[in-house]
Amino acid sequence: MAVHIVGSINIDIIASLERLPLPGETVMAGATAKLPGGKGANQAVAAARMGAQTRMIGAVGDGDAGRWMRDRLAADGIDVSGIEVLEGQETGTAYIAVDAEGENQIIVVSGANARLRPCAPVDEGVLLAQLEVPVATLLPVFAQSKAIRILNTAPAVAGARALFEHVDVLVLNEHELGVYVPADGDDDDLARRARSLLCRDGQAVVITLGANGALAVRSDWHLHVPAVPVIPVDTIGAGDCFCGALAALLDEGRCLEEALPCASAAAALCTLGQGAAPSMPTRAAVADLLL
Ligand code: ADP
Repeated sequence: MAVHIVGSINIDIIASLERLPLPGETVMAGATAKLPGGKGANQAVAAARMGAQTRMIGAVGDGDAGRWMRDRLAADGIDVSGIEVLEGQETGTAYIAVDAEGENQIIVVSGANARLRPCAPVDEGVLLAQLEVPVATLLPVFAQSKAIRILNTAPAVAGARALFEHVDVLVLNEHELGVYVPADGDDDDLARRARSLLCRDGQAVVITLGANGALAVRSDWHLHVPAVPVIPVDTIGAGDCFCGALAALLDEGRCLEEALPCASAAAALCTLGQGAAPSMPTRAAVADLLL
């Protein structure tokens, strides 16, 4: 089997500053770092490091940046044959400014990601996607695929609900849940709000809750998975790690009850390193943590 990931591929250009600029202001940065990024690419690295045979489906531009990203993904053992190189297009780029307190400003140029076309349906293993590529691209793929279909609704975008009925497992963080199902006054009944996203029997919704772990619901079942206690260095990419690891475990034939604690452990380990893709843990590290 395999994990097929349809999603964004970005280069992250990160500038560290004393403080973020105000509108119209110029602030000097000491240096910039260039890291692989994009939710799709991050989740592909997480799935591959969990031991899944992983195939990335996405689009990059025809310049050096696109080549660099393909090479980085291939170095993690990911099958990059499904990455289209689009002539005359720019590879997706995130310009990230981070101040001394860790506060950030991010500008994302979607580039080739916005021009990704639908791929053939996926009929075996797991299909995993996020929302940094067009909903219209994902819709026919999700509607026609027979694989286990996981959608991570990040970032929350207009029109995404059309996908929900074609999904087997929906993964959202608390912020995204708030966008789709705003809290009703004092009502913080997360299970009720999560269940309101279910479209049919057999579906599951997983809400990730940061340091509080994750809550999974089906129509007649729920499970709270605590987070593994750690002292995080930076939580960037934790959600991506959770999704990639979950996809790898479901691809192995594990049920949600077994897969969720393991995905939660992987995501906790991800918070111990800087950046997203570089801090995705190996299967061996996750197994050690769960011993
Ligand atoms: P996102 O990165 O999308 O905002 P969350 O913050 O909910 O998502 O984190 C995703 C998962 O990462 C959580 O469900 C949890 O398993 C793990 N995680 C995140 N923050 C921590 C933390 N401080 N300690 C331990 N695990 C964490």
